[in-house]
Amino acid sequence: MNNWNKQIADMLADGTVALVIGYEEGSTPQKTRPLFCHDAVAAERLVMDGRCTHNLAVYLTKKELLPAEGRIGVVATVNVLKSALQLMQENQIPEGRFLLMAVGPEGKLTELPDAESLRQYIAAHPLPDNPEVAALIEKIDAMSREERWAYWQECLSKCVKCYACRAACPLCYCTRCIVEDNRPQWILPWASTLPNIEWQINRVMHMAGRCTGCGACYAACPLHLPIHLLTKKLTQEINREFGTERPAKGNVLSTFSPDDKENFIH
Ligand code: SF4
Ligand code: SF4
Repeated sequence: MNNWNKQIADMLADGTVALVIGYEEGSTPQKTRPLFCHDAVAAERLVMDGRCTHNLAVYLTKKELLPAEGRIGVVATVNVLKSALQLMQENQIPEGRFLLMAVGPEGKLTELPDAESLRQYIAAHPLPDNPEVAALIEKIDAMSREERWAYWQECLSKCVKCYACRAACPLCYCTRCIVEDNRPQWILPWASTLPNIEWQINRVMHMAGRCTGCGACYAACPLHLPIHLLTKKLTQEINREFGTERPAKGNVLSTFSPDDKENFIH
């Protein structure tokens, strides 16, 4: 057992945490999958390396999966930490309920017990930009308005409205979604081009200034539709308009400052 597995096994054994969420070996050597450890023995199966790409923060708002009492440990990647911090800032998870933990390359376990320690760790471990995503956004930016519309119509016409992108996103946590409302029927329920585009516009607009760029939505899409480009592009626009600093509480669309340049505020 690695030293960090042993540390987590001890935490489970002495009751420091009631549950630890992490990763274990998957069904093929190339993959890992989420693991819920309820006891010290299960902690032996925990792994952490570059294959750990599921965003485990999606479980942090699922009360039905979590013990009612006790602290919950999470062996987290930087993407998980970013999502957890965003959830804290949106008051969706209380700070003390989760003990986020990062495993360094040398197997050192770092405990990140509160929002401030998360902020500092994330700032010290910036994720590199994905050159493929940057190249695709550049290609779409270079299109005319008509070409872009045709591109997204063609792309989103293939969506089967499975909502896997919604289920995989830690920040899509509403228990009732606009796509299920039918009084009024905001979005037509069947899968065809226009309702599919309506669905994605809604999804993306609700992510404005909140998306952490984890890519879980894209990874979950069975048709590999490049929907993460939409949220990424929106993030770029928000950074351009409002800067890269985010409010410590809330998000860009739900907060305002009297100094905002828009005059509706005055
Ligand atoms: S990249 Fe996708 S899954 Fe990740 S936070 Fe943004 S919208 Fe959600
Ligand atoms: S995961 Fe893909 S196919 Fe499913 S609703 Fe989202 S965009 Fe459509």
